[in-house]
Amino acid sequence: MQLTVAQDVTTLQSTLAALAREGKRIGLVPTMGALHAGHVALIGTVKQRCDAVIVSIFVNPKQFGPNEDFAKYPRMLEADLKLAEAGGASVVYTPTVEDMYTPDFATQVATGDIGKILCGAFRPGHFDGVATVVAKLLLRVLPHVAVFGEKDYQQLCVISRMVLDLDMPIEIIGMPTLREQDGLALSSRNAYLTPEQRKLAPALYQILLQTAKRIAEEGIEIASAQKDTVRLLTDLGFKVDYVELRESFTLKPLTDYKRPARLLAAAWLGQTRLIDNVPLE
Ligand code: AMP
Repeated sequence: MQLTVAQDVTTLQSTLAALAREGKRIGLVPTMGALHAGHVALIGTVKQRCDAVIVSIFVNPKQFGPNEDFAKYPRMLEADLKLAEAGGASVVYTPTVEDMYTPDFATQVATGDIGKILCGAFRPGHFDGVATVVAKLLLRVLPHVAVFGEKDYQQLCVISRMVLDLDMPIEIIGMPTLREQDGLALSSRNAYLTPEQRKLAPALYQILLQTAKRIAEEGIEIASAQKDTVRLLTDLGFKVDYVELRESFTLKPLTDYKRPARLLAAAWLGQTRLIDNVPLE
């Protein structure tokens, strides 16, 4: 199938209508572009379950804070289209801000507590912005399936919650994090790292793995394990926002270790904010 590029919702919906007439099963991969192998893996996962994969590329202003990297977020549409097509996408939807948000746009999805904790505490309004754009994308495409990476684990939980709460008839799939050989989670923002920071960055994952092991296998108390991890990362040069063990899915705090749980962290290297998480299953 040749790649269709839909730059506005009208083109998107006429393309989708043609696919629906052919009885195709549709899958959606929402992205902000600057595609890498992690995104391609998401496309591959959807491709296994659907006849046609729709990739959206939209740097969503509503999920960036006033001092965040909206303006400098990497944009490379030509390379993205090539990767999406090679990965097996049928349609790439590349809306403009005006196509997504009309001038009188007023509604916002409120994600509640799950969007206010962890990254939400450091990025106020971020998850409401994410949920709003994802709700619009899900409703515009009405896919059978949509996939999200565990790399953004809180985002996956927020979206799963929203789809359940708002009765959206769409299956949400989580995809394990794709990593560089040294363990660093693939991310479009890794391009911001200096060579020196890039060398240091995989320590975030390695240390989370060590901490998860200490909690799960050695029975170390959660609060002190979290504190030790913050100290270790700080000593290496990270500025840590949080390291937290949480219940999987609800992301509620855990005082006593019980499975399934996730150890989640966010930490800065210079101007770059890295996030990562590991399962304790
Ligand atoms: P983004 O373009 O960063 O908004 O990401 C688009 C989708 O790709 C989200 O569902 C992310 O969680 C997912 N994603 C980003 N990086 C990775 C990765 N390294 N492994 C798996 N999924 C990823």
